[in-house]
Order: sequence, then structure tokens, then C-alpha cells
Amino acid sequence: MAEKWVYFFGDGKAEGNAKMKELLGGKGANLAEMSKLGITVPPGFTITTEVCTHFMNTNGRFPKTLKGQVKTALEKVEKVMGSRFGDARNPLLFSVRSGARVSMPGMMETVLNIGLNEDTISGLVAKSGSERFVYDAYRRLIMMYSDVVMEKTAGIEPPEEKGIRQQLEKEMQKIKEGKGVKNDTQLDVNDLKKLVNIFKKKVRQVLKKDFPDDPYDQLWGAISAVFQSWNGKRAVSYRRIENIPADWGTAVNVQIMVFGNSGENSATGVAFTRDPATGENRFYGEFLVNAQGEDVVAGIRTPQAINAVSKTETSKHLPSLEELMPKPYNQLAKIRTKLEKHYRDMQDIEFTIQDGELFMLQTRVGKRNGTAAIRMAVEMCEEGLISQKEAILRVRPEQLDELLHPMLDPKLEKKAGKLAGGLPAGPGGGIGQIVFTADDAEALAHKGKKVILVRDETSPEDVHGMRAAQAILTAKGGMTSHAALVARGWGKCCIVGCGALNISASKKVLSVDGKKLHEGDWLSLNGTKGVVYEGKVGLLPADPGKNVHYKKLMSWADKLRKLNIRTNADNPQDAKLARNFGAEGIGLTRTEHMFFEPDRITSMREMILADDEAGRRKALKKLLPLQKKDFIGIFKAMDGLPVTIRTLDPPLHEFLPNDQASQKEMAKRLGVSVEAIRAKVQTLHELNPMLGHRGCRLGITYPEITAMQVQAIMEAACSVAKRGVKVYPEIMIPLVGTKAELENQRELAVDVAEKVIKKAGVRVNYLVGTMIEIPRAAITADKIAEVADFFSFGTNDLTQMTFGFSRDDAAKFLPDYLSKKILSAEPFQTLDQEGVGQLVDMGIRRGRSTRPDLKVGICGEHGGDPSSIGFCHRVGMNYVSCSPFRVPIARLAAAQAAVRKA
Ligand code: PEP
Ligand code: MG
Repeated sequence: MAEKWVYFFGDGKAEGNAKMKELLGGKGANLAEMSKLGITVPPGFTITTEVCTHFMNTNGRFPKTLKGQVKTALEKVEKVMGSRFGDARNPLLFSVRSGARVSMPGMMETVLNIGLNEDTISGLVAKSGSERFVYDAYRRLIMMYSDVVMEKTAGIEPPEEKGIRQQLEKEMQKIKEGKGVKNDTQLDVNDLKKLVNIFKKKVRQVLKKDFPDDPYDQLWGAISAVFQSWNGKRAVSYRRIENIPADWGTAVNVQIMVFGNSGENSATGVAFTRDPATGENRFYGEFLVNAQGEDVVAGIRTPQAINAVSKTETSKHLPSLEELMPKPYNQLAKIRTKLEKHYRDMQDIEFTIQDGELFMLQTRVGKRNGTAAIRMAVEMCEEGLISQKEAILRVRPEQLDELLHPMLDPKLEKKAGKLAGGLPAGPGGGIGQIVFTADDAEALAHKGKKVILVRDETSPEDVHGMRAAQAILTAKGGMTSHAALVARGWGKCCIVGCGALNISASKKVLSVDGKKLHEGDWLSLNGTKGVVYEGKVGLLPADPGKNVHYKKLMSWADKLRKLNIRTNADNPQDAKLARNFGAEGIGLTRTEHMFFEPDRITSMREMILADDEAGRRKALKKLLPLQKKDFIGIFKAMDGLPVTIRTLDPPLHEFLPNDQASQKEMAKRLGVSVEAIRAKVQTLHELNPMLGHRGCRLGITYPEITAMQVQAIMEAACSVAKRGVKVYPEIMIPLVGTKAELENQRELAVDVAEKVIKKAGVRVNYLVGTMIEIPRAAITADKIAEVADFFSFGTNDLTQMTFGFSRDDAAKFLPDYLSKKILSAEPFQTLDQEGVGQLVDMGIRRGRSTRPDLKVGICGEHGGDPSSIGFCHRVGMNYVSCSPFRVPIARLAAAQAAVRKA
């Protein structure tokens, strides 16, 4: 049998279903499913994603049998509708829309009203009884088609504000101004007839081509354009950000047009089965009377609320759908319940009401921010809709970030100068400098600047800049506009529909009530309330402990996970913070960070400068009490939990000043000559410091350093133990590559520790273990484990040494590796499971082959990365350790790993 490229749906039947997302895209699969569920959808057909892949691979050609299959499906639709495409008396019009496997809101093209031409106009006028409506649809077709098919798809890149669409908009504006009216709806049929002629002329003049009159030319032009838009600039950027593979392709949905713009008894809208901003279980949505879907998404008119609970500041004076059209509203509310029950998740739906009759255009799992995701997961579980395990999987670990994210300080906010108000589309606070284009946002963010992207309208072309910005602010658009959807998906602070702003992107200026702000000026946004302030208002850290849903979800996660979660912390404050976030111990204290403090660096330098052991010991003696004090603080903060402390790791030259002025100052402070310092810097200079005299190599050359550190650790431990603190010190030796290295340091450590214990007269149990961060250590882990109480994988160094990529220099080439797809993820952020992961797996197996009860963890950056945490679970680690703010993320990721594996 020939391959099937086209799937029909409508009239209570469908060839596809919701499970066929890969082939039919999300929209196509769900249209099929809704049709089968007996929900009214406009009939049509889906052209599969395989056609897209074929189209891309063959330079824009379609499979041979596609035309025939489209014709058959089209005839089926004609039969259901009792009218024909291109028929002068009783014509059918089509919409052509994209639909990938996962939703990519606004990233690809849509063409509506396909099939309108000089012949079919009269038929449609007779059918609809409104000449005005038909000419309005025709002018929309010309605008959309010339923009999408004839300009964008043809690869024409007009200068800013010179695109065909803008030029046509200007023509329409002229007519409106000539008549002295503001809204499109105030144009009468004669204006629209005139406009259609002006549009056609303009299209010919600008694009050097006639607007096509043949309905089939229009249809195939639109189908090609939608397929092509898979590789359009904004779709490509969005895919890159969201990690969507290019070879998935999009499906194309061809559906009969239903008109939300056929009069005052018609409407079109978007709704969510639960509130996507808060997660509350209430029906939430917006609509426009007498409008097409593009009007809602474009955010040109202020949308009305579908019901009382959806009303906002800007829509509270307007009647709701429930008040205006109670019958279709009640039908919609019933469909809401049916869809949630069926899909068992919050749905984002699109609908159109044509002359009082309700049609569903789309349903898909709705995007939501982190706060909402948590609340929905917990409440759906409590309602019995989903299980606890499903609830755990419903929240992406990164989404917790949002709850942990800062808000504007309310005290400072009260005093701040309010600039304007808009719709609270993305909660949290955002502070940054104004930029007016997405490219500028990206470029400046790249330079480390904090920027706020300010745009007039919400354009999907801006997606890369939206990503780079701290926050997004738009003058137009509603809660369901593109910017709002995208920002919510990312949990980014965002305010839309801020009507008081007057923005000129070309002049890079923004005015509000006569006040002018320029690029680079500071703004602060409260995305939870929708308020914009001038200048920099302070930020406050978030307090997730107050969120009951979060606490519940995390308690479920803690029950399900097998991995323990520790934190990397170098001081008591971080340790406390992490403990509040749920850390169950410290997996890494980098002691060198303590040596950089102003009160210690001098003694440290003195130690480095010393010519002999006696000199070093003298300096170390000064450091001992300071280190001990640090450790006491950390042990107290972690009362009852294990604390892993690593001995000195970095190369010594890092502690010495490189510039002349600082060398001079150091000489003065230490009472030595500048030459002596310069000479020492010279001696310590290494060509490859990362592979040089660092880690346990330091402790082997200068045993007194390790001895001092162990003494400080154990004296601190004994002293707090005496005061009733439960202390579990774990001494960790870095950068070990051979068993003998660890044996050397272990003997020294045990010797010192036992002496301290004896002197203190309290027994404190301690462990001596090692980091596994050199490939050789992973390979010989069976031998190393004979002298190690625990392993902690230092995957930063292990990645560096396995790839041979310098940690400090890789930023020069890694972006190219990612954009050229030589690597699929940044290996210093996400563990390279294929390569580095093998060493980790091998290290654990071999280690446990000689010491079955070996405790194993990870303390590299990957310990806080959700996909790497999944790997750590699978290879049987006991714990992961990450920075304090990532502790909740790790708790959830570990639970998800356990659920997925179970
Ligand atoms: C590591 O190498 O993964 C590690 C945790 O140590 P550092 O980053 O301090 O080298
Ligand atoms: Mg390391």
C-alpha cells in the first residue's frame, strides 16, 4: 500500500487519535481525538510531519502521492459540508495551520480564508448574507497570504517596518484616518472593497507578482509556506532554546473556516481549563466578539473575559462571554470538564463561535509557570485525577526555580516611582536596562548586562531576546498573547498590555505620560501584580516555605526518592540556606575559598613564600584557628548531618598577586622584598596549572598543609561534639589518580585525627575518602577503594580531563560545538553520559567490587542538573551534592528518576 500522508477528521469521526502526535503533530492528533469524543470541530485533514521531513530533504518537493490524497480528503470534507472548494455558488474556505509534536506558540505560520477569490465572493455573500463580512475576510486573506506566502516564504527580508504587511496596514490606517474612525470594524463594505483593490495593487507593486486568484494555487502556496516555516528564523531559535530536534518537522492542518467575525453573534477566544498563572481550579479565558483568531493572538484589541473570574483591570468593565452568549458559554464549560477528565491535565483550548454555534479549534496541554504547575499537580492528585507519582512527573524540576526566584522588595516598591500598569503575565520581579529589539537584548545579555526587553507588540520573532532578557514588557497584548505564553512557559517575569507605553523601536525611546526613557535606562517590573517602575528597585529572595502546594509536592518527592541530596557549601550561611531548602548534608566544602578572605590571605601568602618547612609551619599555625572557627560554624549549621571537607586543591599561584601594585603591597605587608615575591610568582608559574601542582600533590609535597587542615577539622569536630552537636566529618582528598597517593594522605590524616581525638578525649567518628576526578582514578577504582571510605565524583575535572577540554577556556569553542551539533549539550552543565558517564559507572562498579558498602556521591556541577541526577540514580549513587539554590530541584529530579525507573 502506498504511504499514508493525509488523515481526515470531522463529523464525529477521525483517522487519527491523540496518541499520534509524532505523525500528526499535537494539534492534528488532538483535533482527531476531539472529533472522536463527539466535540464539534470544523472538519478537515492533517498532512503528516513525514511530509515536512520529505519536503525539507528534497528542497521543497512533495511526495508524489500527496496531491491525490489531499484531493480525496478534501472531497470527504466537501461531502460532510455539502459545499465545494472554489465553487462560485456555494464555496468552502479553508484555514491552513502548522502543528508540531510539541506546541511552539506562534513560531510557525498560519493562513486563513483560503479559497476566496473574485468568483467565490458572490457565493459567500449569498451564503452569509453579509457583503461586508466577505470583503473583510478577503482583505485579511490578502494581508496574511502576501505576508506569509509571497514575502516570508519567498525569502524576502524587507527592512524594519517596510514588510508588505506593514505597508498594507498603513493603507488601511489611511482609510481609517480619512474617515475619522479608530477600529477596523468601523469600515463599511465600500471602504473594504476599495481597500481590497488598493491591497492588490500594492502587492503587485511591492512583490512584483499578482495575488493568486486560483483557490488551489492559494491552498498549495499556503501548505508549502507552513511547511517552510518549520525552518523559519523564529522556529529555529525556539527549537534551539527548547531543544526540539529539527528532524521532527511540523504537520499541516487544513480545516474548513468557521468565522468568529461574521457578526455580533460570533466570537473567537482562548481559554485554559485551570488558571495558568496561579494553577487555581477555575475556568480562565479571553475572547473577542466579531473577530478571527489572529486578532486575539496579535493583541491589537483588548480581549474580554469569558467569565467573572477571568476579569482583569483592563477587562472588568466589559461583559463576559457568559453574560453575552450564555448558551455557547455553557457548552464550552461542559467541554472544559470533559477535556480535563479525558486528558487528565490542564488544557489550553481555542474556540470560535459562528452565529451562536460553538466550534473547538484546538486543545493541547497548557503551558504554565512553576507555581501553577505545582498547584495543579497537587490539586489534581487530591481530586483523584492523577496519582502521586504522576503529580511528581508533572513539574519540571527547573520550574521550581521560579519559586526560588526573587521578587521586588515590597518596602522599596512602595517608595518607587510607578511608571505604568499592565497585565501580570509572568510572576516574580525583574530589574534591568531597557532594550528595544530582541537582537540588542541578546547581544547585551551576552556581555553580562541585565536587560528588559520592551516591545510594542508581542512578536514570536523576539523569542531569542525574550530568553536573554531578565523580564519582558509589552504595550499591547492580553494574558494569552504570545509573549505571555512564552514567558509563562519559562517562568519569566513579564508584563503585557501596558497601554500607557508609547514605544518607538526605531528611535529607541519610550514615552509614558510625557516622560521619555531611552535605551539603557533602568526599569523594575513586578510581574505578579503587573506594575512597572522607573529605576532600580531592590529584589528580595523568594520564600518557598510559605507555599503549601510546594511543601506537599516536595514531601511526596522526598518519600519517593532514593538519592540523598547534599549541598556544596563553604560557609555556615550557605549551609543554613541549603538546609532550609532540604539539604541532607554537605557534599563538598572547598576549603580554599576560606583562604581568600582578607584576614587569611596574608598568612596563606606567608606560607607560600616560606623557604622551608619551619617557615610554612609558622604561617600555618596562624591559619589553624581561623579554619577551625569556620568548621565549627559549618558543623553547627549541619548538626546531625554529614559534612565533607576537602583538603586544599588549587595551584598555589592562585593565591599570589600577579600585578605589580599588589605585589608591592604584599611585599610591604609581609616585610619582604618585591623581588622575592616576583621570584616566587615566577617559580610557581606553570604552563598547565590545571594539570600541575594541585590537589593531593600539594599535600604530598607539603604534608604540613594537610596536617594543619585535618587538625582544624578534627579539633572543630571534637569541640562541637563536646557541646552536644552530632558531627560526622568526612575528610576528602582531591585529585587522586593512584592508590598510593590516597594511602599517603590517608595515613597522615588518620595519624593527625587520632592524636586530636586522644587529646580531646571524645570519640568522633570520621571518614577519609577521595574525589574521583581523574580518569585513572575511575579506571583503578577497585584499588583506590581499598583505602577510601567514600568516593565523590568531581565531574568538573573528570569532564575536563576526559574530553581534554580546559574548563577555563572551553567557552571559546563550546558555543560552536553546540550550534554545529558536535555536542548536544554543554558537557560542563549536563553530564556526558556516553563518555564521562562510562567512567563514573565503571568507577562505582570497580570501587564496590572491593568495598561493597562504599558510599558514593557526586559534587561536580552536574549534581544539580536534572538529567544528570537521573543518571546518578541509575548508576546507584548514594547522594548528589549541589549549590543551595538547586537543592529543591535536585530533590524533585531524584524523585522523578526513582518514579521513572520503578
Ligand atoms: C570537580 O572537579 O568536579 C569538583 C567538584 O572540584 P572543583 O570544581 O573544585 O575542581
Ligand atoms: Mg575538581
